[in-house]
Amino acid sequence: MAKLANLKPALSSMAPRLNVAGPANERERSSLRSKTEPAFRWYNTARWRKLRMEVITRDRFTCRMCKRIEPNTANLVADHVIPHRNDPVKFWEGKLQTLCRTCHSTTKQKAESSMPKGVWY
Ligand SMILES: [Zn+2]
Repeated sequence: MAKLANLKPALSSMAPRLNVAGPANERERSSLRSKTEPAFRWYNTARWRKLRMEVITRDRFTCRMCKRIEPNTANLVADHVIPHRNDPVKFWEGKLQTLCRTCHSTTKQKAESSMPKGVWY
């Protein structure tokens, strides 16, 4: 499990890199989101990191959409099958699936077109 040593730095930089919207003012937007959207904070907890790794290992590092095996967990996303919309029950107890970054950004764009305020990881 040599990859685990790299997990923490990868996670801390994941949120900004996942954001496909314009990079301008990303830092401001991140700090704003951390205040207004509870899910933004939940992603930074040890509890989420543990849950995320459980989902990824359960799915054998395989993207559920394209079936690609991705050994680098920094390129994998534990995706909420049902958007949590900052609902703690949906966030922590909702069904999760492993997606690669590519497939996730596709589903994320779809979700955001109908629900622009969500945070979809
Ligand atoms: Zn994929």
